[in-house]
Amino acid sequence: MQWLPSGWCPRVVAFDIDGTLTDEQKLLDMDAVNALRRLEKAGIPVILATGNVRAITYGLWRFIGLSGPMCCENGGVLWHPDWDEPHVRASGKDAKMAAEWLESQHPEIDSKGIQTNAWRESEWCLFADEDLELVTASINNSDWSKLDVVRTGFAIHLMEPHLSKGSGLELILQRMGLEPSDLLSVGDAPNDLTMFAMSGWSVAVGTPFTDVQAAADVVSPHPNSATIAPLVEAILTAHAAQEL
Ligand SMILES: [Mg+2]
Repeated sequence: MQWLPSGWCPRVVAFDIDGTLTDEQKLLDMDAVNALRRLEKAGIPVILATGNVRAITYGLWRFIGLSGPMCCENGGVLWHPDWDEPHVRASGKDAKMAAEWLESQHPEIDSKGIQTNAWRESEWCLFADEDLELVTASINNSDWSKLDVVRTGFAIHLMEPHLSKGSGLELILQRMGLEPSDLLSVGDAPNDLTMFAMSGWSVAVGTPFTDVQAAADVVSPHPNSATIAPLVEAILTAHAAQEL
C-alpha cells in the first residue's frame, strides 16, 4: 500500500475526529490514539480538524497529549496552545435564529438540535435525522439564505458560507508559518472535502461516502480508524528516510 507520494513527508497532519479517529461503533480507537502520540514524538504536530466544538476537542487534545492546533466547528473556531485567544470566525447567532425560525415554520424540526450546541460558538446544529431537503429548501427561501446547510454523519450544520475546514486550516497554517503543501489531511465525510482540496496530500479512510473517496489522493482499504496506525507507520518511515 502506497500511502504517500515517493520522497514526500508531511510537516503537519490534520485528522478529522468522528469517523476517522473513531471506529464503526463511533468509539475512540486506542490504536489511533497511540499512533497520534508517535507522530507527536517524532516532531510532526497533529491538528484536530472537526465539526465538534472547542470544549470537547480540547478534552481530546489534552488527554491524547497533542501539541498542535485545533480547527473546530468545521473551521468556525480555531485554537492553538500558543495563541492568547481562540479565533472565532462567526458569532453563530444567525444560525441559531435560523433554526428557531425553521421550527416556527415546521414544528417537526427541533430547533434545540444536538447536545453540543450548548458549547457551540460559530454555528448551530440540527439533529442528523431531520429532513435535509426540507431544511435546505426552507433556508434557501428565507432571510437566512446566506447560510450553508452541511450534513455530516452526526448533524445538519447551519453555518456561514466562509466557514470550512479548508479555510480554517489555511489560516492556521499561515499563523504557523507552514504551507498547504506541507499538510496531509485525513477524513471520512463531505465536511472534509475542503481540507482535502487545499492539502498537499489527502487520505480518505474507508467510508461509504463515494464523493469523499473520489476527492482523496488515496483511499484506505481499512474502515474508519483502522486506517490510522498503518498510515502513521508510513509517515514515520518517510520521516526517518528524510532524516538520513
Ligand atoms: Mg468525520
